[in-house]
Order: sequence, then C-alpha cells, then structure tokens
Amino acid sequence: MKFSTKAIHAGNEPDKETGAVNVPIYATSTYANEAFGVSKGFDYGRTINPTRVALETNLATLENGKYGFAFSSGMAATHCIASLLEKGDHVIVSQNVYGGTYRIFERVMRKLGLDFSWVDTSDYEKIGVALKPNTKMIFVETPTNPMLTLTDLDMISDVARVNKLISVCDNTFMSPYFQNPLDLGIDIVVHSTTKYINGHSDAIGGCVVTKRDDLSEQFKFLQNSIGAVPSAFDCYLVLRSTKTLALRMERHNFNAGKIAKVLESEHSSKINRVHYPGLESHPQHQLAKKQMRGFGGMISIDLGSFDNAIKFFNGLKIFSRAESLGGVESLVCHPVSMTHASIPKEEREKYGLTDGLIRLSVGVEDYDDLMEDITNALGEVK
Ligand SMILES: *Cc1c(COP(=O)(O)O)cnc(C)c1O
Repeated sequence: MKFSTKAIHAGNEPDKETGAVNVPIYATSTYANEAFGVSKGFDYGRTINPTRVALETNLATLENGKYGFAFSSGMAATHCIASLLEKGDHVIVSQNVYGGTYRIFERVMRKLGLDFSWVDTSDYEKIGVALKPNTKMIFVETPTNPMLTLTDLDMISDVARVNKLISVCDNTFMSPYFQNPLDLGIDIVVHSTTKYINGHSDAIGGCVVTKRDDLSEQFKFLQNSIGAVPSAFDCYLVLRSTKTLALRMERHNFNAGKIAKVLESEHSSKINRVHYPGLESHPQHQLAKKQMRGFGGMISIDLGSFDNAIKFFNGLKIFSRAESLGGVESLVCHPVSMTHASIPKEEREKYGLTDGLIRLSVGVEDYDDLMEDITNALGEVK
C-alpha cells in the first residue's frame, strides 16, 4: 500500500460497535475488569489507551516501522530515547540540532552521567574522531534546524553497525512523507509531532518508531515508567492530521521550492545566502535527492545583520512571528533570539547560525500571496 492510503487507514479501523469511521476519543483513566483477573487487555490509562494505540499504529506504519510510541511532546520522546542509556555512556550528536535537544542533553542528561560530543555528522571523518570506547549512540537530525545541513543516513547506519551503536534520527523536518530513516538502516526515528505530522498548530506531541523488538520492549517499559504520554484528545488530533499529511507536504514543498528559487535568483543583493536542500547551490543537493523524496517547507536566509533580519521580520504580514514550524500557516522566526537562544554564541557562529539568519516555515497558503508578502518585507531591508 502507498503512503496516502496507509495514512488514512492504518490504525483507523471503523469502530466495531457502531461503525464510526473515526477512532473514538477514549477519555478514561482506567478500565473495569469483568471478574478477578479477567480484563480486555486494558488496565490503566498511562499504560495503554485505545486512541493512543490507533495513533501509534498509524505512525509506525508511516515510518515503515513495527512499533510506535506516542509522547506528550517531542522532548518527552527524546528523553525516553536518552533513558535507554546508562551512566558513563557517550553519545555523538549532530552539532546544530533543535535547541531543546541541546538543552536536555547538556543541562539535564549530563548531570545524570551521560557524555555528549557535538559533531558535524555530515562529515564521516569527524564522526571517526569523536568515537570513544564508551560511545553507545549516534543521534542525528537531518536536515538540521535551522541550517538545513544534511547527514547521510546510509553512512550513519554503517557507522552504527560497525561500532555497535544505536542510531537515532530526528525526522521532524522531512516528516515520514519525504524521508524514512528506518528504510536506510537507522534503528530509531523520533518526531516532534507538534510540527508537520500534526500540522495544525493545535497540539504538542512526539513519537518514537522502531523495527527492533528489543528496543520496543525497552520503550514500552520506559514510556509507562516515565509517564510522559499524550491525552486521548491530542492523540485524536494527531491521528486526524496524518490523513492529510501527504497533501500538506506536497503543498509545503511546492511553495517553499518556488520561494527559495526566487529568493536566490532575484534578491541576491539583499540576501547573502538561501539555505534550502532543493536548490542546486545547496552543498548537499545530491544527497538530498538520494535520501529524501522532496525538500520540505523550511527555508533559512542570511540577511547579513541583526538590523536587516529584524526589519524583514517585522515587515511580514501573512507570516506570523512565532516559534515552531510545520503548521498550515506560514511562520517566521529569528533563531538566535527565539528557538536557539540557549546555544552559546561561539558554538552557533561556528556553523553559520548568525544574528542575520531568518528561518521561514512556509505554510500551505497561496504561493502568490506568500511571495508578495516576502517581497514587500524585503523592501524594508537596505
Ligand atoms: C520542535 C522540535 C523538537 C521538540 O519537540 P516538542 O514537541 O516541541 O517538544 C525536536 N526536534 C525538532 C527538529 C523540532 O523541530
């Protein structure tokens, strides 16, 4: 079965009692036993919920995995993955990951005895240098936020296999519609479902998907032990949203692709650099074509200075000035002062995350309106 069909049907069986085509929102914290020791396989709402099971089945199917686990946020999903590790273990992480990933690893997990190296995982040699005898995991984000740097997932799964590491890919930016890391040999996929998967900017959530039976057993234990599970209502919202994921991703990709080309070809006097994996000028355009089926809806542009970035930011009318990304509505963000404020200046400037950088989450509005908005706002920039 192809993606759009699976998106609509996986986990979404019509209700057995009523035929309702949508999975009910099971608002229940517990389940009654018929008699001593006789249950229907449901005991307590943190451990299991039918709406959550439907969502988990759906997400596992879309990532071509076997097991899905839903969480109350993307960070809760990442926390669960880090909880696979033990004191003294070392992790290699892509150097410009989501700011919250940097924060939980450096400021929460390090205190508990885990060690992290921040590495340009697009470079095989640098991974080799960073490996230690106690390295247990390699955690990559591709494309990265906000620089849109890619990591070769085939290469990462090779490195992981040879060195007996657990490989993890944060696939939030591409969504399962454009990229499936498990197909390339990665062990674990993590998403902030808050972004493209839910796509309507009305729920916070996360998920983990794997094919590995051993990891699935651990995730089931950790999800229940830590308890950062989503409500049945939020599971329903995300399950509703994946039905249109293919349609939305096609439109995000179409709009962003056209906008990136125009920004590069017609506005080079004001924009130093357009970062978008679909542009031939992107240093990893060939890799993007190899491991992704589209290029997504995220564009970053370097306007050269803080002043220019802020003039452009304030000049936009359709794009909302907001954190987050992947929703139907277009958003603009100044990463240095918003999403990536927790990363030290020396760290971020090493990889081009400058004061002049603006990140656009291109929504599914009409292309002409979005382009006009951007052109007008660029008029404010000297
Ligand atoms: C937003 C985001 C996260 C964190 O997800 P939350 O749902 O906000 O907790 C992790 N990774 C990436 C790439 C993100 O964009």
